[in-house]
Amino acid sequence: MKRLVAGIMTATLVAMTGAALAAPPADTLAEVKKKGVLVAGVKDSLPPFGYIDEKSRQIVGYDIDFVNAIARKLGVKVELKPVTSASRMPQLQEGNIDLIAATMTKNPERAKQIDFSHTYFFTGQKFITRKGSVKSLKDLEGKKIGTAKGSTSEQNAKKALPSSTVLSFDDYPQAFLALQQGKVAAVTTDEAILAGILAKAPNKERFEIPNVQISDEPYGIGMRKGDKAFVDFVNKTILEMEKSGEAKKIFDKWFGPHTQFHLKRNFKITADK
Ligand code: GLU
Repeated sequence: MKRLVAGIMTATLVAMTGAALAAPPADTLAEVKKKGVLVAGVKDSLPPFGYIDEKSRQIVGYDIDFVNAIARKLGVKVELKPVTSASRMPQLQEGNIDLIAATMTKNPERAKQIDFSHTYFFTGQKFITRKGSVKSLKDLEGKKIGTAKGSTSEQNAKKALPSSTVLSFDDYPQAFLALQQGKVAAVTTDEAILAGILAKAPNKERFEIPNVQISDEPYGIGMRKGDKAFVDFVNKTILEMEKSGEAKKIFDKWFGPHTQFHLKRNFKITADK
């Protein structure tokens, strides 16, 4: 029995050491410079944050422009890896990506597991519904609500609508399909994402985003916990982008008056957030 326990302990130790050997670099900044490429986890079906451009077949968007700016500052190439809301943190922690730039809200719970940059986008959680069906949150009580697995949207919806059934899909386009098919009464996530989904919808006149907000969602670039040099570098870069006007330019490119969104930039990238 003793021997068996010892055997199990050795096996566990080997497994743990094995995992430690395969662990991601402690200093991502040095590693990225060495390998000459920045591998970023991004969304690939959420315009205008990260989506496949029909003409170029490349992933483009607001998040991607931030990744490109960071890589340019580092003098390295970019490799984009599509992630989902649920897969992005494990992908980062396993070392498959160097950072997350994927519509990700910074919150204290996530900050226990990974580090975040200063806020580089700010939005709030709302709903897409059939036109005229929802005036206030009450109208959604007891209904089925679609959202994405592993998101703050999922958690906030459960809290705000305890009597409703939250159905979690891999990502928001699938949730919207369920709404179009009448399987859910609403889709909920960040307003800027909902606006992107609605803009692309073939039958958009049948839907709307009522003025019902249930949370604030500040986005941060996610990096591994304690990866200090890299976090400092990313923060310094995005603060410089704010100062030079590049960050605003990127916002205007994707959300400004020449786009279908006409969003007001109600935030600035600052060191205290
Ligand atoms: N920003 C929210 C989150 O980080 C919703 C969008 C998403 O799922 O990426 O969970």
